[in-house]
Amino acid sequence: MARTRFGPRRRPGIRPKPKKAGESSGESAKEIANRLKSSATVGNNAAPYRRQSLDIHGWLCAKCGMDFNENNLHLLTVHHRDGNHRNNPPDGSNWENLCVHCHDDEHSRDMLGRYLSDER
Ligand SMILES: [Zn+2]
Ligand SMILES: [Zn+2]
Repeated sequence: MARTRFGPRRRPGIRPKPKKAGESSGESAKEIANRLKSSATVGNNAAPYRRQSLDIHGWLCAKCGMDFNENNLHLLTVHHRDGNHRNNPPDGSNWENLCVHCHDDEHSRDMLGRYLSDER
């Protein structure tokens, strides 16, 4: 009668698990696509700290306060407060998110100061 519904075809727990690799390949393609998309947003060849700094300080210029989005994020750059690009503390204390204009401004001033101090 109704017993046929619960035939031997349906036996939960007995089915052996398929290989994980085959199972995840479908998902990982999606994941990879997502990762590519998000890394393209921030810039694939950008310095690894850029993303961190954007995460910590937000998508805005620390100087002029300009807001950024996916469309113009490439104009937002990470400035090193002490000028040492190898000083990248994970807490972001040496980073400042600056738009290209403010960053330019910051560095021209910086260089000028350095030139002047080299003069003496
Ligand atoms: Zn700015
Ligand atoms: Zn800088």
